[in-house]
Amino acid sequence: MRLPRPHAPFLVVARRLASPFFPESCWITGAGLTAAEQGLSLAVRRKLEYLLNWPYCFKCGLTLGPHSQTAGCPRCASRSLTLRCLLRAGPLHGPLASMVHQLKFRRQWGIAPVLADWMAAACRHRPNVPMDILIPVPLHPVRQWSRGFNQAAELAHGVGDRLNLPIAQVLRRRRATRPQTRTQSAAERRDNLRGAFAAVDGFDLAGRHVWLVDDVCTTGATLHAAAGALRAIPRDRRPASINALVAAVADDTPIPDQHS
Ligand SMILES: [Zn+2]
Repeated sequence: MRLPRPHAPFLVVARRLASPFFPESCWITGAGLTAAEQGLSLAVRRKLEYLLNWPYCFKCGLTLGPHSQTAGCPRCASRSLTLRCLLRAGPLHGPLASMVHQLKFRRQWGIAPVLADWMAAACRHRPNVPMDILIPVPLHPVRQWSRGFNQAAELAHGVGDRLNLPIAQVLRRRRATRPQTRTQSAAERRDNLRGAFAAVDGFDLAGRHVWLVDDVCTTGATLHAAAGALRAIPRDRRPASINALVAAVADDTPIPDQHS
């Protein structure tokens, strides 16, 4: 199977070339930085390290409580899961939430390779699930045109470079959808995304373990819909497993302050 890397427009190439150059002030606090601090003050890096190391469930991506080692994940026990595995760099809290927001809405390109580093690290610590192909969750062309880039594709390329994995644009967005919000009911979220994705003809994913890549898992509905489009591929070309990798997962489990 040939998995061509999509042609990168000039601006995307320019951003990737520019990505090693970090701002002179912290992305989170705006404080002045030394060259060695690389976009994040040491205090912020310490907070991030704390968040990134917090335990979470490899099946649903949600933060685990202090008794999870013995009790398991209570949320996985009570529902059927679309994905075999959902890995994250960290929870959508504090400085990590701010970084995701600044990449998407303030075009802070230098954040993408930093997040990709952490996502690749999450993959190296994954359970025994193979990784064969990364599939970025697509934006609708109109939204991508207005934003100028797809943050999921930026992250997928960063992770692919670090783990030497191919990227395949297997999915396309068939229609624009309203942004998912956590105030919507589960039924509203499903309705919003019903039929939103389709698999592009011509990809043979048989026997492959594929990983959807996105910046955030807010409700899980987007990944669920994207996985549904992959499951709709004819049986002889359907992947062996469908998994997901995101920079951050939103959930309600409180994480205690670092020094409490
Ligand atoms: Zn779980």
